[in-house]
Amino acid sequence: MIAKNRLRGLEQIGALTVSEGLIKEAQAAAARQTSEYAPGERAALISQIKSLLQKQNAVLVAHYYTSPDLQQLAEETGGHVADSLEMARFGNEHPATTLVVAGVRFMGETAKILNPEKRVLMPDNQATCSLDLECPVDVFSEFCDAHPDHTVVVYANTSADVKARADWVVTSGIALPIVKHLAKQKKKIIWAPDKHLGSYVQNITGVDMLIWPGSCVVHEKFKAKGIEGLKDQYPHAAVLVHPESPAEVIEIADVVGSTTALIQACRNLTAKEFIVATEPGIFYKMKQAAPDKIFLEAPTGGVSATCESCMRCPWMGMNGLRNLARTLETGKDEIVVEEAVRKKALIPLQRMMDFAREHNIGMKVKGNA
Ligand code: SF4
Repeated sequence: MIAKNRLRGLEQIGALTVSEGLIKEAQAAAARQTSEYAPGERAALISQIKSLLQKQNAVLVAHYYTSPDLQQLAEETGGHVADSLEMARFGNEHPATTLVVAGVRFMGETAKILNPEKRVLMPDNQATCSLDLECPVDVFSEFCDAHPDHTVVVYANTSADVKARADWVVTSGIALPIVKHLAKQKKKIIWAPDKHLGSYVQNITGVDMLIWPGSCVVHEKFKAKGIEGLKDQYPHAAVLVHPESPAEVIEIADVVGSTTALIQACRNLTAKEFIVATEPGIFYKMKQAAPDKIFLEAPTGGVSATCESCMRCPWMGMNGLRNLARTLETGKDEIVVEEAVRKKALIPLQRMMDFAREHNIGMKVKGNA
């Protein structure tokens, strides 16, 4: 951790990068969920989960990056598969008294912030995100305190505590319009935690921005060279890129957008082949949206690659049928957010929702102050 008297600039905060050890731990936990099923185990788990969801008046909401099994189960049981904000919106409007969030912890926390009267469970509430880990609230608050003339804008991939310190929360789908809105008011911005998304937004808006040096361990690994190599083999493929990717990858994209925007692009573009630079869990929904098209994983290979499978999010992989059944049985992985923090975090979240509604950007969540 960075000592208080050393916190002078963003360059020192770079030391907060998530360790290989933490990533390996998450990969090991993910492997326990996906290790081979005993004969009949998978079917028995699915049947047990369906019955428990019904008995407990619970609904399953799954992120696009979770396994096909979980996405299919959410759809078959009247739940929903979506990005983080749409997951929260669905949970907010659904009459179930328990929300089961298959995703990572900040998604469970967002669901709880917006739905304090509901029980929020996760298959594993230790499933986190490198962006969240790289933005600890104590260091971040100190940095904000040192720049009191800046408006604090944080990405949804942050803890409830960090959201509580922010003026605005944004998702990748709404970041640009909100920052353009702030730029018109001549605001200076602290942006956290994703440096690539921050630079992308800064390049387009030209806003005066201090950018926190966090990154997503998945999107950070995509390489322009690898994608260009694949493009040589599939010259007519459209390149779809999430803006958490490095600038060199964004530069060669045909479409840059949120998970929802990338799925829509598969449906709307005339291309028959797509090179996709985001977590491959999204292929489940892309194939549904455009069943006749071909989807190719953008390589994380290239000259300096250190692993073959780093495009799979280790924390998303911690969600499986085994721990989903367990959390419904035991309630062990419930999400709890301290009420004082929840109330503070709701303010910037609600601000984003209100902005989206006023500008018709496609979110409609009612909060509970
Ligand atoms: S894919 Fe990246 S941003 Fe998404 S949860 Fe995993 S580490 Fe976080």
